[in-house]
Amino acid sequence: MRLILLGPPGAGKGTQAARISDKYGIPHISTGDIFREILKRDDELARKVRKYVESGDLVPDEIVVEIVRERIHRPDCQRGFILDGFPRTKPQARALDEILEADGTPLTAALYLQVTEETVVMRLSRRRVCENCQAVYHLDFNPPKVPGVCDRCGGKLVQREDDREEVVRRRLRVYREQTEPLLEYYRQRGVLKEVDGNKPIEDVWREIQEILDPLAERGDC
Ligand code: ADP
Ligand code: AMP
Repeated sequence: MRLILLGPPGAGKGTQAARISDKYGIPHISTGDIFREILKRDDELARKVRKYVESGDLVPDEIVVEIVRERIHRPDCQRGFILDGFPRTKPQARALDEILEADGTPLTAALYLQVTEETVVMRLSRRRVCENCQAVYHLDFNPPKVPGVCDRCGGKLVQREDDREEVVRRRLRVYREQTEPLLEYYRQRGVLKEVDGNKPIEDVWREIQEILDPLAERGDC
């Protein structure tokens, strides 16, 4: 299955993508995680993207598209992938279409996690991530077993720099202006599947499986 996940920052894309990846055996590709890894380095690409990521702006399309093109052509993507955080602009969506068309492997579905602004604020203000493996936690809704320590790898849990209130406001504005129009783009192509993302993690996960199980069984991979 070739999937994309749409929704504002904090909608739960990373949380659900990790489960989708485990259950359906397709790699979870988060462009945000890729950029956070790049920022740990001190090379030209890191210098180029830093100002965008830290201020909550989008990294230029041509940089993101080349990263995704290279990633989805790796052997582990032969049975599909789940893209989390890409595409975020119309040019990115068109570029993805072109890549998939050239490969003869159409998109299976675009899952849209619909959430209210209140949900977003509540989630991002108390999100914590592992600085080592990028696993995602929430201090109230999905706390680690030991405070401050990642269940998966024992790494240290930190607050993302861009989860500070003023950056969150900017990211939400960017989402509304540049990414929300993609909902119509995918609706018109008949692949948009809407999920109520305001519910608890397990309820959202159940709804997603109800959509994906039949697609996986049909062998739309
Ligand atoms: P995104 O990848 O869309 O930015 P995340 O998956 O990182 O969102 O989720 C944002 C925060 O909300 C995290 O702290 C996560 O643990 C928490 N979270 C995710 N889904 C839910 C949910 N359905 N209910 C409550 N909290 C959630
Ligand atoms: P995320 O983890 O998805 O919230 O992404 C964190 C940051 O990485 C964003 O605020 C952008 O600066 C950058 N980023 C991630 N994905 C993209 C994308 N598809 N296009 C442009 N910038 C992106």
